Amino acid sequence: MFRRTFLFSALPARVLFGAGTLSNLPNEIDELGVGRALVVCTPEQSDLGDTAARMIGDRCIGVFPGAIMHVPVETARQARVQAHDAGADCVVAIGGGSSIGLAKAIALEAGIQIVAIPTTYAGSEMTPIYGITENGTKKTGRDLRVLPRAVIYDPELTLSLPTSMSATSGMNAIAHCVEALYATNANPITSIMAEEGIRYLARALPRIVERPQDIDARAECLYGAWLAGSVLATTSVALHHKLCHTLGGMLNLPHAETHTVVLPHATAYNASAAAQAMGSIRHALESRDAAQGLFDLAARLDVPVALKALGVRFADLDRVADAAVAAPYPNPRPMERDAIRSLLEDAYWGRRPRAALSGA
Ligand code: NAD
Repeated sequence: MFRRTFLFSALPARVLFGAGTLSNLPNEIDELGVGRALVVCTPEQSDLGDTAARMIGDRCIGVFPGAIMHVPVETARQARVQAHDAGADCVVAIGGGSSIGLAKAIALEAGIQIVAIPTTYAGSEMTPIYGITENGTKKTGRDLRVLPRAVIYDPELTLSLPTSMSATSGMNAIAHCVEALYATNANPITSIMAEEGIRYLARALPRIVERPQDIDARAECLYGAWLAGSVLATTSVALHHKLCHTLGGMLNLPHAETHTVVLPHATAYNASAAAQAMGSIRHALESRDAAQGLFDLAARLDVPVALKALGVRFADLDRVADAAVAAPYPNPRPMERDAIRSLLEDAYWGRRPRAALSGA
């Protein structure tokens, strides 16, 4: 059914896509009209950070190779001090969601622009969403000041992403698309992008697992990740993201792996209340059932499909279910405590999503 009334927000980002486009980094900085760049990356990607710094030359005022998952406030403070003391007017974030997240934490306070060069499929580079972790709690928000103004998608930089991380990062991107399809503020444009994002990611991820150096598959995944980040940027998230945030926050689980395990089950839970979204997912996956298709995709990618394998204890399930329903996100189907506890138990054992839950 066509949604007759809707709001579509186009966000002001400039995107350069293609193999070898990292070499355009100096031009992108020129285009932004800035000239004092702090490069941020993780310790594991410090070589890449140094490469970016060399390309920028004397317009680079330093490298901060200390980005950590979920942006601890202490790390954000250190990076802000370095940016401030050196008079930075832009941050170049090269890496995954952790590096881009740190750049956002700097930009939020300093009001400076971000050039993002993503090397995973998490999608943060397209969103105005930030998160900072203090005393074990991640506070998130939306603010246009943290939206990267230039994004360079260079598939060559993803060739080094290990296959298991590629697979889970790609499933994380698919999760953004799935929830965008049944978001309360979905619209025809975001729905086209979300379905297309799932299609590209689901087709290319198995090829990456078989041939990690397949640059065409890498490009297609990165394109899917762009679409996924774009829809995450302007639509609301629901049950799936709620469960992942709750599990991640309470049990300190790995981000992309948690998304991979939970997604088929959250999709099954919502199936009976989001028929049109399920149709789009089925078409994109070329599968007879959305939730089963997502489960089969994860299994084919040879990544964990059980929360147990991520270190969750059975005894944790009750308090995760309680916490999730205590502060629910808007969701097509009401978040019912007992049904969510069942969903979590299926995810714990890595069972197939249940037909009863999927309403199939
Ligand atoms: P990540 O950035 O933490 O990267 C994981 C590891 O992989 C790091 O050690 C990193 O250095 C390494 N790595 C990254 N790219 C690589 C490559 N091409 N080759 C080899 N190693 C590489 O992981 P992520 O999944 O991209 O990001 C997760 C974080 O992003 C979470 O904190 C999540 O909450 C956040 N996130 C935020 C948004 C948003 O819109 N704000 C969206 C998605 C994710």
